[in-house]
Amino acid sequence: MTMEDNAHETRTGPNAESAATGRTVAERTIAGALRDGAARLAPVSDNPRLDAEWLMAEAMGTDRSTVLLQYMDRVAPERFDDLVDRRASGEPLAHITGRQEFYGLELAVSRHVLIPRADSEVLINAARDVLADRPPARILDMGVGSGALLLAALSSWDEARGVGIDRSGAALAMAQHNAEQLDLAARTELRLADWTEIGWESRVMPAYDLVLANPPYVATRDPALADDVRRFEPEGALFAGEDGLDAYRTLIPQLPDLMTPGGVAMVEIGFNQADAVIDIAARSGLRHALHHDLSGHPRALELWVEQFGDEELG
Ligand code: GLN
Repeated sequence: MTMEDNAHETRTGPNAESAATGRTVAERTIAGALRDGAARLAPVSDNPRLDAEWLMAEAMGTDRSTVLLQYMDRVAPERFDDLVDRRASGEPLAHITGRQEFYGLELAVSRHVLIPRADSEVLINAARDVLADRPPARILDMGVGSGALLLAALSSWDEARGVGIDRSGAALAMAQHNAEQLDLAARTELRLADWTEIGWESRVMPAYDLVLANPPYVATRDPALADDVRRFEPEGALFAGEDGLDAYRTLIPQLPDLMTPGGVAMVEIGFNQADAVIDIAARSGLRHALHHDLSGHPRALELWVEQFGDEELG
């Protein structure tokens, strides 16, 4: 269809100023497509406009700012509608684009790893605060997934070496890819290991200055878990028994033996799990501090073994 064909319907064409410009695919501008896309994504997304912009950037093979600054009057590519269809069906943006930004790092992601969440950045910020005067030499990530936590930590401390374990080979491959892309592979070791199995620790060096973990912590039947998370993200990274605490019961008692004297662990917790997890930690002889996410929820639990002579003693 040419522009003349439907010129009677609305003002059309590249020079039209009206917001109503371009109702048909053939002539729709990117500005118009973004409005339509945002409207279609409103039921599934907290940020429908932003999602539409990211999908447009993906469809155009460029970045979001180029779309916004240079491309708004261009004709929208049809591929955009396919991407909007996928997002409208609930598929996460990170799966459509194949990547997710975390702590300023661009990470490749897939269905085999938990999509890195902005809330998890609290673990890195808190670790950097706590360890500001004593940079960790050795870092362990228990359940490395995409590599988000470990790679953010390694990019925070230039001298540190990191070990990431995971029970998923597909996750380890993704973490390895990300370590290489970020030029961190030389300081990263990835091992297939499952910390719920007896003897797993024989596969890693003992004693780390920083132990990171974002274990599964969702209750199996949690009615509050977003449907798209349940449908698209790996259940092994999400679910931890009836009350969501099973992973902590296994993981936390192992921490004292994995930490150097003066070492710390940063463990992610669900927004309402602080009391229960602190209780598990106390029974393992660990001291704790809580760090909050951007919504004000306790999100990172800092754990350490009290050293003889600690000033906090008494
Ligand atoms: N934060 C994730 C969610 O609730 C859960 C992550 C996890 O279990 N480690 O969507």
